[in-house]
Amino acid sequence: MNNSWSPDKTWNEECGVLAAVGVPHAAEIVALGLHALQHRGQEATGVVSCDDQGGFHSHKGIGLVSDVHRDATLAQLPGQLAIGHNRYSTAGGLTLENTQPLRVVYRGGSLALAHNGNLTNARVLRAGLEESGSIFQTTLDTEVFLHLVALATNDSIEDALIEAARQVEGAYSVVVLTQESVIAMRDPHGFRPLCLGRLGDGYVVASETCALDLVGADFLREVEPGEMVILDPQGMRSRRAMAPAQPLQHCIFEHIYFSRPDSRVFGETVDRVRRRLGRKLAQEHPADADVVIAVPDSSNSIALGYSEISGIPFELGLIRNHYVGRTFIQPMQAGRDFGVRVKFNPVREVLDGKRVVVVDDSIVRGTTSRKLVNLLRRAGASEVHFRVGSPPVTHPCFYGIDTPSRRELIGAQKSVEEIRAYLAVDSLGYLSLDGMLACEQEPQRYCRACFTGRYPVTIDPEASKLSIEQMRRSGAGAGR
Ligand code: AMP
Repeated sequence: MNNSWSPDKTWNEECGVLAAVGVPHAAEIVALGLHALQHRGQEATGVVSCDDQGGFHSHKGIGLVSDVHRDATLAQLPGQLAIGHNRYSTAGGLTLENTQPLRVVYRGGSLALAHNGNLTNARVLRAGLEESGSIFQTTLDTEVFLHLVALATNDSIEDALIEAARQVEGAYSVVVLTQESVIAMRDPHGFRPLCLGRLGDGYVVASETCALDLVGADFLREVEPGEMVILDPQGMRSRRAMAPAQPLQHCIFEHIYFSRPDSRVFGETVDRVRRRLGRKLAQEHPADADVVIAVPDSSNSIALGYSEISGIPFELGLIRNHYVGRTFIQPMQAGRDFGVRVKFNPVREVLDGKRVVVVDDSIVRGTTSRKLVNLLRRAGASEVHFRVGSPPVTHPCFYGIDTPSRRELIGAQKSVEEIRAYLAVDSLGYLSLDGMLACEQEPQRYCRACFTGRYPVTIDPEASKLSIEQMRRSGAGAGR
């Protein structure tokens, strides 16, 4: 399901953030919760805690949560306040210095910040900051936030963060660790999710509710778009940092692909939305077939919805290996389709001689889908009917979902019939835009720019072509 996205981007980050406040050994809670957010980022992870004297402690590493955060490392992170981050990135930007939470000391003391989303004007802001002498430590858009806080005219950290937030554009769900508190903040459009939970006498903030479940916290509510929530061992306060956008712009792709089905995101359980997508897909694109299978895991709920309406039985026709990372050694004799074969194996008994409906949540480049179809045919499928639980992805995301450029998006380059021929399937059906929106309770609140090219917040097209990392390597000043 993950593909080899272009290796030169440090931009467009998919991430998970977490914070725990007012609980003993907050870092342990954060590390535990990060396991439930592993799907939001598998490349690098970090935890920063603040002890009772205001001292910061951090541990970061490249790898999975279970590899990086061990009992021994967590024992070095004392305190009742902690934040953490899981990062998805691509080869070019994968360095320890780019691993969050970012930690700095500024005139107000120590500060650490973890960010999910993508700031669309970061390149421009960074160029201006560098022009006036700022020295950047990372190639992350996130760092701009910290520089703006340091330069703010207001001394209070809350006001400084609001000042910074008013200058950045795009998507941010952030948790900020100060020496007394954790501050959670969400951009006024509400692009990325962020929720609040109660844990004993303390609080937990997380990208998704599945992390609250794992640590045993009770879901309280979402952090509202434009809201700042200040949490300390004494309790919780809320401030309106900015007026919420009209309309809001929740990322519809969180519901389609990115979030876990057991999470409650944007007021709805993701599984419920995906079931509706599947039911609608079955109505729009029925098929004469014997079995419905999913491309696990993100498409399972969509395929179940399809099966329910079509009456075609749902079967487990593809088994996913969960233990392969993004880098592995390819044996010389591995042959074609190895990248897909290492991740998915077909169940011959389910597929042999059968007319198969294969349901996927999205087609991005089309390369995985094409190889999967090949696997299904080799396992004996007599017909393959491909069904997609979203419309063709025609435009890259600039708000935090990692998508390749238009050139590489098959939905931008080919017609549906051409894609059908490329995938070598008997039929292909994409859910319509209206059909997809009809599956949301409040469709007007969703950003669907990846399907329409209508971007709700001005984008920086240069950012996708030339990342800060590349500019650094070529010696060009960022933004020039
Ligand atoms: P492809 O069409 O070959 O690019 O791959 C499509 C597959 O990638 C689908 O199974 C999706 O579940 C998955 N996918 C969609 N968006 C992303 C993303 N941003 N990152 C990783 N995988 C994705």
